Amino acid sequence: MHEMSLAESVLEIIEDSARAQDFRRVRRVVLEIGELAAVEPDAMRFCFDAVMRGTLAEGAELQIVETPGAGRCGQCGATVAMQERYGLCPDCGSAALQVTVGERMRVQDLLVE
Ligand SMILES: [Zn+2]
Repeated sequence: MHEMSLAESVLEIIEDSARAQDFRRVRRVVLEIGELAAVEPDAMRFCFDAVMRGTLAEGAELQIVETPGAGRCGQCGATVAMQERYGLCPDCGSAALQVTVGERMRVQDLLVE
């Protein structure tokens, strides 16, 4: 389950921000997850709670914002919506689709005190 290591990297981001901005408690974490990032929101919530235990973000609310995936066809240049990483271009049928949006996960916002 790679959500566990992702949750650990979220904690690192939070700890870095805490040092830089001098806060002690995190109340809410808004996480942006791309549709093509292969992250299960339920698994992410479970891992988040487990990883944050005993840290400055213990008990913090996790809000997940899912962003849709999109790509560009290398054959005809069309921009297409993508629900999965591999697919065929709806315009020309080529498999030369390249993901342009939606394969990343990032911390969008932190509510701290
Ligand atoms: Zn195409």
